[in-house]
Amino acid sequence: MKKTLKDITFKNKVALVRVDFNVPIKDGKITDDNRIQAALPTIKFLMKKKAKIVLFSHLSRIKSEEDKKAKSLAPVVARLKELLKKDIKFIAQTRGEELESAIKTMQAKEIVVFENTRFEDVVNGEVVKNESKNNAELGKYWASLGDVFVNDAFGTAHRAHASNVGIASNIEESCVGFLVEKELTALAKGIDNPTKPFVAIIGGAKVSDKIGVIDNLLTKADKILIGGGMAYTFFKAQGHNIGKSLCEEDKVELAKSYLDKANGKIILPVDSANNTDFKDSPATFSGVDLPDDVMGLDIGPKSIELFKNELKGAKTVAWNGPMGVFEMENFKKGTVGVCEAIANLKGAFTLIGGGDSAAAAIQLGFAKKFTHISTGGGASLEYMEGKVLPGIEAIQEI
Ligand code: AMP
Repeated sequence: MKKTLKDITFKNKVALVRVDFNVPIKDGKITDDNRIQAALPTIKFLMKKKAKIVLFSHLSRIKSEEDKKAKSLAPVVARLKELLKKDIKFIAQTRGEELESAIKTMQAKEIVVFENTRFEDVVNGEVVKNESKNNAELGKYWASLGDVFVNDAFGTAHRAHASNVGIASNIEESCVGFLVEKELTALAKGIDNPTKPFVAIIGGAKVSDKIGVIDNLLTKADKILIGGGMAYTFFKAQGHNIGKSLCEEDKVELAKSYLDKANGKIILPVDSANNTDFKDSPATFSGVDLPDDVMGLDIGPKSIELFKNELKGAKTVAWNGPMGVFEMENFKKGTVGVCEAIANLKGAFTLIGGGDSAAAAIQLGFAKKFTHISTGGGASLEYMEGKVLPGIEAIQEI
């Protein structure tokens, strides 16, 4: 068990808090402040416990000095001030005297935010990736600024960066924040200790992106329903004609081996919604043998019914990846249908592993009906693959 906020005494200590303030910003304006709102419980808890709070986050990617102009955390700090109704000191640097003295003179409950951690990826115009490649000196330096490290950024937990692993490895005390704690509890329940029957639904464009997930879930799930572009590689492995559909030729053998070892656990679609090209016009339908001149862009209506039936009685459901090109009006029915079916399951623990499927559920208004929607696409995918997340691994155990 990783240490959580409740396992640490914060009074008068400098808490270095890695948050996820990677919000969308357009023309200097934040277009969605969900991530800032989501960080508030941890920040408020630390205020209550009289910590001196130093917040930092990455914002987008930094590949040049030019990039830095539009990627400052300044707009985020302005929003945070509004939300907390509190003065916050912003240091527009990632290191140096100004930051050090601001921290040294802090009182309990005060907040300092420093600049986008990825500004450290480009120094004097040179791409050095000090943050993203976990430069040893940088992690040590940041750790030296505080007493306790709190990791509350799940979205980067699958990466070993200076602002998570670097600090955690060089500081006396560390714990996870409320957001990360919530993610870990839900993922542990949904993936590691699922109440059976456990049904996994995997979709998305490519088999190659989901090999790890299939490997891991084959050992854990009772059934794996496969949809999306990756289903066509499986159809090909069964000897079907897939027309112009997405196919990874070099994964056909692998798909075949999965089908062999799955012993009936893998359930594939039984029909397909097609178009002559990758475009959003009305679908034609076929079984799993497609005409030569079409590509499959969604699972068909019979497959939606099949998947709905397979979901009945499930006590745990984990979903990652859309069933079709859900961005197109004519090819979103599979994803909508499956999303709705999971959302309406009674008494089941339902988990979405981030990314496109999370976006789809939120867009469709089903967010509240899922037990947990992970906020970290890459991190939750790696968790579903059974991989260790370095940003979490580096945090102390109780
Ligand atoms: P992923 O990031 O791997 O979850 O893949 C998501 C993407 O897969 C979405 O942008 C979908 O449009 C795309 N996708 C899903 N089904 C298909 C399909 N049958 N053909 C092409 N792309 C697809």
